[in-house]
Amino acid sequence: MIGLISATAAGAVAAQRLASAWPERTRVYEGPVRDAVGRAFGECEQLVCFLATGATVRLLAPLLGDKASDPGVVCVDEGGRFAVSLVGGHGGGANELAREVGELMGAEPVVTTATDAMGVPGLDTLGVPVEGDVAGVSRAVLDGEAVELDLEFSWPLPALPSNVGRPAARQGSVPQQEPVIHVTDRLLDIGQAQVVLRPPSLVVGVGASKGAPTDEILGLVHAALRDAGLSPKSLAEIVTVDAKADEPGIVQAAESLGVPLVTYSADELAAVEVPNPSDAPLAAVGTPSVAEAAALVRGGELLVPKRKSERADGKAAMATCAVVRRPGRGRLAVVGLGPGARDLLTPRAKAELRSASVLVGLDQYVDQIRDLLRPGTRVLESGLGAEEERARTAVAEARKGQAVALIGSGDAGVYAMASPALAEASDDIDVIGVPGVTAALAAAAILGAPLGHDHVSISLSDLHTPWEVIERRVRAAAEADIVVTFYNPRSRGRDWQLPKALAILGEHREPTTPVGVVRQASRPDESARVTTLAALDPATVDMMTVVTVGNTATREIAGRMVTPRGYRWQESAQEESE
Ligand code: SAH
Repeated sequence: MIGLISATAAGAVAAQRLASAWPERTRVYEGPVRDAVGRAFGECEQLVCFLATGATVRLLAPLLGDKASDPGVVCVDEGGRFAVSLVGGHGGGANELAREVGELMGAEPVVTTATDAMGVPGLDTLGVPVEGDVAGVSRAVLDGEAVELDLEFSWPLPALPSNVGRPAARQGSVPQQEPVIHVTDRLLDIGQAQVVLRPPSLVVGVGASKGAPTDEILGLVHAALRDAGLSPKSLAEIVTVDAKADEPGIVQAAESLGVPLVTYSADELAAVEVPNPSDAPLAAVGTPSVAEAAALVRGGELLVPKRKSERADGKAAMATCAVVRRPGRGRLAVVGLGPGARDLLTPRAKAELRSASVLVGLDQYVDQIRDLLRPGTRVLESGLGAEEERARTAVAEARKGQAVALIGSGDAGVYAMASPALAEASDDIDVIGVPGVTAALAAAAILGAPLGHDHVSISLSDLHTPWEVIERRVRAAAEADIVVTFYNPRSRGRDWQLPKALAILGEHREPTTPVGVVRQASRPDESARVTTLAALDPATVDMMTVVTVGNTATREIAGRMVTPRGYRWQESAQEESE
């Protein structure tokens, strides 16, 4: 139970807000605050005090006992701006509560416990199911104690701090009963101070006759896993042949197990070598094996060969299954960081950064997000120009089974790292792309609505592209009356390209055509202006800038650059709706 205490009208309103959001978890303590804090302290696991920290500290001081049993206390100020974890950060769960309260009330959580402030992860935030003494082992990780990592097989896990490791890899002596993190799909009897992480390593192949009941299939899968000593929490997929994609029993079994159903063609399955082929499925669906072949088709180790279901009524079995452990595949996330501002970094990008064990990127981009990385993340940063090397490094690390994040500003696929990396990558790693807000889009939002109709981006860097090619593309955009955003517009050693490109556009557009110039979009020294083709001074443009040139219909309206959605202004309103 969380006790809520307030002294002022504003505090009472805030307390009420929390109480109605969490009716089951909270109790409001009324009356004089000293008395209310005293009662709540004795009765609750946690307290939220809508009081100044000073007042709260004075009220708590005589009550404090020891950190293992005292409630966790969070303090929220009058203005509801901060949720301060005051005492019991770890043991009392005040750090987590400060975050939750902050999220709910729009207040900034303030956490001063060293390990938390450094972002050491709780084991339940790794994105993998975890069981056992999660609180105890997480605390050991947080406190910097030696924690053993027992890997049954390699898996691309997020970074863990350096006090977690295999005994040999770790420095110093190992205490007798040190905490252990097991990474396995096997059922284990675990003792105190142990947890098991369950990576999704198991695939169950299922074959079934038409009309096979869900219960029969579910019973079979559970029995097969149990008898082999395997945990259903490590189940990644149910797999079968295409012809059974809509078989209700299989579909419902997968649903009930909470995993996707993946199917393969009979031809693909027929090509897989299996220990127990048979004639029945060959006649029915065109492959001598469904369960074993589907489980093995993407490789792995057969842990449970084909096994038939058992029926209480003694009738013939209607289902078969086989269990395979797939090797952990390395993971390469290609992550766009957006143009610079933290709130233009997508939540998905943030999650990928936090689940990486290795981060690869240009040093200046790494600086942009360094605070988001988990302690223990290996950072491989390099300077400008080392693109090929970065791409190779990222792919090589993923091939070793690591969870790699390769970062780029804006979108990592736009004039950035995605293509060199994917040119290196083979199909033995998983590749995940996370889109980012590009410089062109960030600039457009600042300028107004310059991209309301067809538009292109053209890079004026002739480092990797011959100028003739660039010029041909600028000319084509000019002739086709397309809005153009110039990337890499001008550097100290490359100053004639922008005037030349603008001149080509000027052959087809009026000198009064609006041009938007945005420097350092979304960064602290952002600047933007709307000018015209004739008035733009190229000398004011540098490499931190994008330049967007309107088409013949683009107008400057109230200082903003607006391109109509239709070709002409009159038509645009009538013909198109949102
Ligand atoms: N992947 C990036 C582009 C990288 S190319 C994206 O999707 O946006 C580098 C060029 O992008 C720079 O020369 C500049 O023209 C532009 N750029 C990147 N970030 C910018 C920003 N915040 N403001 C203005 N231009 C930016």
